[in-house]
Amino acid sequence: MKTFKTRQAIRKYLNEHPQLSVGFAPTMGALHNGHLSLIKRSKSENDITVCSIFVNPTQFNDPADLEKYPRPIEADMAKLESAGCDILFAPEVSEMYDDNEQWHLDIGPVEHLLEGEFRPGHYQGVMQIVFKLLDVVKPHNLYMGQKDYQQFLVVQRMVELLNLQVDMVMCPIEREADGLAMSSRNVHLSDTERKRALVLSKTLNYIKDHFDVSREAELEEQAMEMLAAEEGVEPEYFRIVDGKTLYPATPASTSVVALTAAKVGKTRLIDNVLIY
Ligand code: AMP
Repeated sequence: MKTFKTRQAIRKYLNEHPQLSVGFAPTMGALHNGHLSLIKRSKSENDITVCSIFVNPTQFNDPADLEKYPRPIEADMAKLESAGCDILFAPEVSEMYDDNEQWHLDIGPVEHLLEGEFRPGHYQGVMQIVFKLLDVVKPHNLYMGQKDYQQFLVVQRMVELLNLQVDMVMCPIEREADGLAMSSRNVHLSDTERKRALVLSKTLNYIKDHFDVSREAELEEQAMEMLAAEEGVEPEYFRIVDGKTLYPATPASTSVVALTAAKVGKTRLIDNVLIY
């Protein structure tokens, strides 16, 4: 695997291989099998697979969360090597941002619903870094996880609005054997919290099994109660929405997804399930 730390160096390398198709999976590191599933999918569909590891400061609303975000770079590199990743792009913050840089792109309501309500400005930071990374890597295919369902829609809207030439691929959520969605933040959970966190995937599955579009509000309320009933778990939201707009699902919705966010102890977790 080749590792690049500057935009110029990775661009120079990729320019030397213009005939090869490029797949790209942006990450913030602390890699787990969820991330590696993106790499493997990309490998099966492209000539070259690029992974970036960059803990993007502009998407954190909580400085303490940014500070304590895990950064096990050596272990990450070993995992990428064994997954067969071709290129790692791991720039410093100063390589990606000038001082006092401004960014704003109006993509409409999808930015402000769900996560947007609880993490104002978060998706502006996500778009800012994904735009910069796409500009450097210029991939044919961009691999992102269903785990961050709303993030996928946000980036998709940016790609449409700016007419960026990239195809987006959504990869399914990788879970631990007991159902917990893999996340870099899971390392912050104590053994007890780790068990309590299972209430997220259990509640999502319960709602999927009992879904009825005419009982949506009631099911959302029931789900919030199930989450809150677990000791040490503080739910932020549980919504059943149209998979394209993130507004409440209707009988006309062609896809429906249930999404939730909850604090387990001090750790904020998100998860979702496609109902259809
Ligand atoms: P992150 O490092 O958390 O920014 O995630 C980088 C990419 O990996 C994003 O596209 C995520 O949606 C994806 N991802 C994170 N966790 C999982 C998971 N459990 N299964 C599949 N993809 C994931």
